[in-house]
Amino acid sequence: MIVVLKSNVDKEKQDRLVDWLKESGVDVHVSVGEFQTVLGLVGDTAKIDTDLVESLDIVDSVKRVTETFKQANRKFHPEDTVVSVGDVKIGGGNFCLIAGPCSVESEEQIVSIAKDVKKSGANMLRGGAFKPRTSPYDFQGLKAEGLELLKIARKETGLPIVSEIMNVGDLHLFDDVDVLQVGARNMQNFDLLRELGRTNKPILLKRGLANTLKELLMSAEYIMASGNENVILCERGIRTFSDYLRNTLDLSAVPMLHELSHLPVIVDPSHATGMARMVPPMALAAVGAGCDGLIIEVHNDPAHALCDGAQSLTPADYDKLVKKIVKVREAVTC
Ligand code: PEP
Ligand code: MN
Repeated sequence: MIVVLKSNVDKEKQDRLVDWLKESGVDVHVSVGEFQTVLGLVGDTAKIDTDLVESLDIVDSVKRVTETFKQANRKFHPEDTVVSVGDVKIGGGNFCLIAGPCSVESEEQIVSIAKDVKKSGANMLRGGAFKPRTSPYDFQGLKAEGLELLKIARKETGLPIVSEIMNVGDLHLFDDVDVLQVGARNMQNFDLLRELGRTNKPILLKRGLANTLKELLMSAEYIMASGNENVILCERGIRTFSDYLRNTLDLSAVPMLHELSHLPVIVDPSHATGMARMVPPMALAAVGAGCDGLIIEVHNDPAHALCDGAQSLTPADYDKLVKKIVKVREAVTC
């Protein structure tokens, strides 16, 4: 249920209403916007008399919502959520560029890429330390050591670091990682999502290979229902009958997710296409579709990358792309 308050309501009256609603056994999420305050009620609202609530002088309107996702729902929270990672902001008009290799391979590799992408304008460094590989015989990542190398690269460049967590048991290793990525294969690992909801870390939640937008939002809801509202949604391509590309980049997901949810939406054109030369056009298309950021794989030696070399841009190509991204953003945000 959503209770929209009149503008400039008396804070004391608002608090009294919130306490009274909570006494009826529901959770109340207060979303204070520039023009309106919205109370989002989660739980068994059947006992709440909507006519009575609507008759209160501070209440503008009451709506019962049937949507399955609530906290991620824009109806509950009309204003865009802005996720902050140190000084970097994502969402609500703040655009963010995340770049780096698929996997952290060595100190020299990650520090060199970090310096290059920073020079081009990236705001955050990505690098997988725990890799979800299809084959158990492929490189599985440097694990804890990889996270340490990312921290060295952060120290050298000041870029916040983003890395994928696959397992709840590894959470303690991520204490000093700025953004925790939940990969496509783990989008519905509900135990992991619940546990990440108990942290206050920004979570980059990637859409699963064969998951609907509703399922993605329900996964965000798992994190938010446990108390963490710092969720960034990521469209990274889905499985279709496309034969020449790794996946199909569902760009219409961007405006649709923005309509349905207040959470920031970023796009990963690297995993979506699987081919370096497809990354720039799809990155620019994603900017055109209104995404709040891009996560792009960049490697200093793609031919010898231990993972996803074929889809990795060189630092020089990334630099060229960022210049175009800036121009397309100017065009679409004017
Ligand atoms: C990755 O970002 O390296 C990755 C494995 O992505 P996804 O989970 O989208 O496949
Ligand atoms: Mn990858």
